[in-house]
Amino acid sequence: MTTQPQIQSTRKSRIPIPGTQFHRIRKTVQAVCFVIFVTLPLFNIMRIDLPRQRFYFFGAELWISEFSIVFLTLMFLWILIAAMAMIYGRFWCGYLCPQMIFSETANGLEKRIIRIVNKKMPNAGPRLRQFAAAVIFGILLLPASVFVTFVFVSYFVPPLDLFQRLLSLDIRTAGGIVGASVTLVTFLDFALLRQRFCTAICPYGYLQNMLKDKHTLLVHFHDPSGECIKCNKCVRACPMGIDIRKSSHQLECTHCAECIDACSGILGKLGTQTIIQYAWGDSGAKSGPEGNWFRRIGFRDGKRVAVLVLLLVYATGLSIAISVRQPVLLRIMPDRITLYSVSADGKVHNRFRMLASNRGRVQATISLSVADLKDAAIEGSGGLKVLEPGQTVQQQFDVVAPASSLHPGINKIRILADVAPGKAGQQFSETFFAPQGEGTIPAAK
Ligand code: SF4
Ligand code: SF4
Repeated sequence: MTTQPQIQSTRKSRIPIPGTQFHRIRKTVQAVCFVIFVTLPLFNIMRIDLPRQRFYFFGAELWISEFSIVFLTLMFLWILIAAMAMIYGRFWCGYLCPQMIFSETANGLEKRIIRIVNKKMPNAGPRLRQFAAAVIFGILLLPASVFVTFVFVSYFVPPLDLFQRLLSLDIRTAGGIVGASVTLVTFLDFALLRQRFCTAICPYGYLQNMLKDKHTLLVHFHDPSGECIKCNKCVRACPMGIDIRKSSHQLECTHCAECIDACSGILGKLGTQTIIQYAWGDSGAKSGPEGNWFRRIGFRDGKRVAVLVLLLVYATGLSIAISVRQPVLLRIMPDRITLYSVSADGKVHNRFRMLASNRGRVQATISLSVADLKDAAIEGSGGLKVLEPGQTVQQQFDVVAPASSLHPGINKIRILADVAPGKAGQQFSETFFAPQGEGTIPAAK
């Protein structure tokens, strides 16, 4: 009986080299990033809720209508992304990006399946084994794609709603069709594209190349004394299939540092150091200990310091905006369809409108009162309002005052609003109209 040749994955694989460092660091960082990716939307830490028009940002539930906070948040995130690309180059791609994490996981899973199939089916032909490996891979990839899609879509839709749709296998409503389509795209992405997505489709890769300059962190081949033994291990280790010796600026390079590990592994055995390293720009300034700590973490010119200052300004503005934010948005405005009315008991009425939105997560109670006008009161139950989380109400109420307290014409008043639970009460300066005709009301004492 003849044993058939083993099938191989067509994907570039990493050569495992004992003692390598960056691979281990990268895998640890990626594991942490995976947990963060899953946790952020599921616990409302950071996500945009499109149906409810809410923006969750580290404990604050912001309404999309809160323009200033949403603007500050988006500006802060945008500057953070741009600063990351300018200072640390494609660090995001190599270490933090979910697309890269899942692509590498898919590569590893596929290789493991191929190994098992080769072992369990030694007498089957290569085509049959390839088919078996592809089927097993597809069966495992499907639930993984559903999970990744679930987490991804949770950034935009409440996870509980999504879970209920998933349980009912909803593919009839618009939401269900979108979910099913994203699952299909995810499946095809990790079945067929994986890292090709980074070079062919991802706009962030292009953006990073536009933002980098002579001090940006990159993976650099530097061999002034000709120590390269041309073993090509760096090329074979590269998941993107490129040769770092040709240039540090190849669009495909994600700065994953697998080539550094490969080179340090092989040259380490010969008693020399790697000739591929992380460096701050082409000049070859090595990322090792040199200069003060500020330079060592990448702040190597005024431009970077300016970006850091800008980032701090936005972070401070955002913190202040969130800390002074009132969970209950309250507007009070006079209803001037009639300036005033006088009731049978001789009291003067002015009508106002209240618009209240509870942007908090707990029930809120609003109680209104009047100041600066003797014996004035809010009529009826208008002075007390209970608002459920997320509820918006608009209602009218009358401020009523005895004629004896009023000056003819305009009276300045304040309407006070106590909101519980809440921060300091709110107050609104308003005008109260009284009849002007002589003898209509007695003069105020
Ligand atoms: S050249 Fe090196 S750093 Fe760039 S993608 Fe390939 S292995 Fe990663
Ligand atoms: S791994 Fe190092 S020594 Fe080998 S070819 Fe690449 S750069 Fe040269």
